[in-house]
Amino acid sequence: MSSEIRQIVLATGNHGKLAEFQHLLGTHNIKMLTQKQFGVTGVEETGLTFVENAILKARAAAASGLPVIADDSGLEVDALNGSPGIYSSRYAGESASDADNIEKLLKALQGLPVAERTARFQCLLVYLRHANDPTPLICQGTWEGYIIEEPRGDHGFGYDPVFFVPGMHSTAAELTPEQKNSQSHRAMAMRQLAEKLTA
Ligand code: IMP
Repeated sequence: MSSEIRQIVLATGNHGKLAEFQHLLGTHNIKMLTQKQFGVTGVEETGLTFVENAILKARAAAASGLPVIADDSGLEVDALNGSPGIYSSRYAGESASDADNIEKLLKALQGLPVAERTARFQCLLVYLRHANDPTPLICQGTWEGYIIEEPRGDHGFGYDPVFFVPGMHSTAAELTPEQKNSQSHRAMAMRQLAEKLTA
């Protein structure tokens, strides 16, 4: 493998994500840059699937002229036919807070037994070599769990306080950031992509 440093743009304005990607890919001689450095702002997420939305974001950031990584993620709840899915961040409305989204979710699942509260976080990652790349690399990470009845824990974000991880006997919000980052949907997808990029 060459020791040359590769530069890749991350299609996000989220600094937490940038740090996670840099942490994982930095050891593979990859330097992550932000789309903001190239004057690219977010795009409207008009796709109907995670992968479509990730590609829309990646293609916009490819205006930078560099290879790009973009992600799209969300929560799929079986009893709700996969909702909130791609609408996870705006489940309770365009400007909904995490607390609003959780409240709506708990209401929708009210009275359901544990066996019917199964859910998973999904993360789709896309790597485009350039805007017209006909064969994007696509990786998917999935984190299985179920939705509990009351929020627990102070870490994380989004639906973490109600997402129970059976193997850890905790909600995602009760895990330390290190514990979450070692097993989350995003971590799984990132590891797959790191392998593909360095193969
Ligand atoms: P994004 O596409 O990564 O920005 O995520 C969209 C939405 O999915 C977030 O606003 C959260 O509501 C939800 N989500 C994605 N990943 C997580 C997670 O790790 N924990 C909790 N919620 C998440």
